[in-house]
Amino acid sequence: MGHHGRLADESHIATAGSSTLVLLRDDITLQNTDAIVNAANSGLLGGGGVDGAIHRAGGPEILRQCREIRAGSGRCPPGAAVITGGGNLPARFVIHAVGPVWHGGSANEREILRKTYDACLTLALSNDIRSLSFPSISTGAYRFPAEEAARIAFVTVRQRIEPLSEPMEIRFIVFSEYDEQIYRQLFAEYSSQTN
Ligand code: ADP
Repeated sequence: MGHHGRLADESHIATAGSSTLVLLRDDITLQNTDAIVNAANSGLLGGGGVDGAIHRAGGPEILRQCREIRAGSGRCPPGAAVITGGGNLPARFVIHAVGPVWHGGSANEREILRKTYDACLTLALSNDIRSLSFPSISTGAYRFPAEEAARIAFVTVRQRIEPLSEPMEIRFIVFSEYDEQIYRQLFAEYSSQTN
């Protein structure tokens, strides 16, 4: 299937409508999907975690385009996303998405995280992107609880792509074994509902 790293086995694949959802424990910068999603911050000028990794691997062209967007439209609020080219990455595009910082759960964090995933899919669909890799947005430096974040990610993506007639491939890219287990559980629950 052209995946980098470990081949996904059955517990790492689910279908939604005509589309495929894939779970991979891997480095998102290596993904050969049309686009990868960056867990960016509002400033769009780079940061640590997955953001740092994407800019390091993708080279300066991505940051140049981010600066241009920043100069034209200002900061990107939580829940929103912008798109640039992929620079030196295998992916043609990077969707820079700003998730919520977790403040304990009463600051609308869940709804903002849902909007963040939704904004990525809207950009993907309007740019003819048929395959897309997501990191686990907000669950690193932004401290969103991983289990709840994964559920929001999975449900939001599924609901959005289920009705599409054109097939898409969506990869959930996790870094830790713990995150992989969380997503695997979601995949298993969903597959047992639909079979
Ligand atoms: P945020 O600021 O939105 O919390 P982080 O980059 O701090 O974003 O973390 C988001 C998630 O991305 C974490 O689960 C982290 O382990 C993971 N991550 C970090 N680097 C990579 C990478 N190169 N590929 C995939 N996931 C990564």
